[in-house]
Amino acid sequence: MEQEKTEDFVNVAIRVRPNPRFEEECLQIIPGEYPALHIPDRQQTFSFDNIFSKNINQFEIYNAMVKPLVLRLVDGYNSTVFAYGQTGTGKTYTIGTNIENYNETDGGLIMRALNDLMVCTYVKKKVNIQISFYEIYNEKVYDLLTKVRSKVPLAVKGFNVVGLSKNKVDTLNDALILLSQGCKNRHTGDTRQNSNSSRSHAIFSIFCHVVSGEKETEAKLNLVDLAGCESIKKTGNFGVQFHEGISINKGLLNIGQVINALSTNQDHIPYRQSIITTILKDSLSKSNYITFIACVRATYEDMHETMQTLEFAQRAKKVKNRPELNTQ
Ligand code: ADP
Repeated sequence: MEQEKTEDFVNVAIRVRPNPRFEEECLQIIPGEYPALHIPDRQQTFSFDNIFSKNINQFEIYNAMVKPLVLRLVDGYNSTVFAYGQTGTGKTYTIGTNIENYNETDGGLIMRALNDLMVCTYVKKKVNIQISFYEIYNEKVYDLLTKVRSKVPLAVKGFNVVGLSKNKVDTLNDALILLSQGCKNRHTGDTRQNSNSSRSHAIFSIFCHVVSGEKETEAKLNLVDLAGCESIKKTGNFGVQFHEGISINKGLLNIGQVINALSTNQDHIPYRQSIITTILKDSLSKSNYITFIACVRATYEDMHETMQTLEFAQRAKKVKNRPELNTQ
C-alpha cells in the first residue's frame, strides 16, 4: 500500500509528436487505466502513467502533468519537469522555451505555469515569485537572463551555481519578457555558433516564497528542456559537434545513472559526474516531485531513438520518492 502511494511522485509520460507527413508509424497506443505503447516490430510493450497521442494539445498536457505541481509549489514542495527525447520530437515546444509561441494554442508549460501562479498571487497576497533561466552547454553554465548574452560561464561551487541571477516578477507580462529575452540569448551566441536549442540543456526555475499566516514556505519548480538524446553518429563525429555530443551524452547518461541509483536505493548517488546532475542535485532526489515527459516521433525512421527514449522513461518510472515540505 505504502509503495503504491510513494510511486506517484515520479510521473512519467510519453508524448507522441504529430506526424505532419503522415508516414507509416512504428508504434501503437493501447489506452486504458495503465496506458501502454506497443512496438510491433520489436514485440515490446511499455506502460506509463500517461501516454499523450498526437491529438493531445498543450493545455491538456499542462493540466495533466504540471498544474498539480504548481499547486504543490505554492504549498511548499519542489518539483522538476524534464522533457527528454531526440531532437525534433517537441521538447522545446512542450516546455515552452521558444520565443514565438506565447499564445493560448501553442503556449508551453512555462507560460501556463506562470499564468496559474499569477492567479495564485492575487488570491494569496503574500506570494513572491522569482525566476532564473540558464543553460548548460558543453558542461558549462550560462545565465540566459543577462541583457547581452554572456560569453563567460558561471562557476559551480559544490552543488550551486555562483552568481546566477534571480529576477522578481510581479505580472505574467514581466515573466514573459524575461522568458523571451532568455530564449533569444539561447539562440544567438557568436562564440558558440553550433549552440542551438538542441545542443544545450535549458533550465527555467520558478521560486515561490509564500507567507500564509504563521506558515512560510519557499519552493522551486524547474522546467527543463534537455538537449537532444540522439547518438553522436547522427550529430557529427568531428570538431565542435563531437565535443557537444560527448557533453550532452554525459549529462543525459548521468541523469539515467542518478535515476537508476535512486530507483535501486543505492547509498551513493552519482550526482557529481556531470554538471546538470550536480546543479540539479536538490531536485533529483527522493524528496521532490519529478516528472518526465519523454517525447517521441512515431515514424519508422526514428524507431531506434524512440526505443532508447522509452527504455530511459521506463527506468525513470522505477524511482519511488517521498517529497518533503520546505518550511523556513
Ligand atoms: P525539440 O525541442 O525536441 O528539438 P521542437 O520542440 O523544436 O523539438 O519541435 C520541432 C518542431 O515541431 C517545431 O517546429 C515545433 O513547433 C513542432 N512541434 C513539436 N511538437 C508539436 C506538437 N505537439 N504540435 C505541433 N507542433 C509541434
